[in-house]
Amino acid sequence: MNSERLPRAKKSLGQNFLVDKNICAKIVDLLQLTPEDHVLEIGPGRGALTEFLIQAAPAGITVLEKDNELAERLEGRYPDLKVIRMDALDFQWEELTPGTKVIGNLPYNIASKLIWDIVSKADMIAKATFMVQHEVALRLTAEPNTKEYGGLTVWVKNHATTEYRFKVPPHVFRPKPRVDSAIVDFFPLPEKKRPKNPEQLSTFIKMCFQKRRKQMANILKKQWNTQASEWFEYQKLSPKIRPENITPEQFESLSRLV
Ligand code: SAM
Repeated sequence: MNSERLPRAKKSLGQNFLVDKNICAKIVDLLQLTPEDHVLEIGPGRGALTEFLIQAAPAGITVLEKDNELAERLEGRYPDLKVIRMDALDFQWEELTPGTKVIGNLPYNIASKLIWDIVSKADMIAKATFMVQHEVALRLTAEPNTKEYGGLTVWVKNHATTEYRFKVPPHVFRPKPRVDSAIVDFFPLPEKKRPKNPEQLSTFIKMCFQKRRKQMANILKKQWNTQASEWFEYQKLSPKIRPENITPEQFESLSRLV
């Protein structure tokens, strides 16, 4: 196991720096970089993953770092690296070069929000590989009828297929986080499989999962109409089922009726 001595990190930005080089190499390998690829790294920090991205020698690497000190340090260490200093939550995902591969050991406090945004706006990316809190990785890859299945699962799976890759234990970070982490891969769905009306779907998902223990008939009481009734009949589903019993595709079609 490789480890380096690191100065005290600023915890406010969710800086748990990965210090195990074998794990960094394994994460970057998942991107399967070719010399034609463009890569965007979110939150490079001290460059643990960046170092392996540079070794893989793709056509272009851009990093997005909010912390000025860390961004400056990276610019000093890698003068050819394109460093964008900004909050990833403000990034215009629609403007990415088509086919870009996105990677990041994401700041855990904003990971779910960032992923919600990226999967829905960056439909032209080739794939994304993110490290997130283990619990979030389970939600991102959950199947219906499980306790991990929720609004984030439904939204993400309406935009991308997800693959749980591997678990990363706390002792490979400095400072050591209290939680396990895991790597998840995302592959955007083709245009025809993405939601027809994403805003409507997003509102519908939030409404349903705010009351996840309630039955659908109860959640939809105010919106209930003939179409909704026929939809449940056609899907051979009882209106007494709960949000966690409905597949991502069924959510999308139901959201267009109520
Ligand atoms: N990639 C490094 C690694 O694997 O060791 C650092 C990962 S650390 C968990 C998260 C990084 O994201 C930090 O460098 C932090 O400064 C940066 N960060 C935190 N919030 C951010 C935001 N809103 N936008 C961009 N970067 C952010």
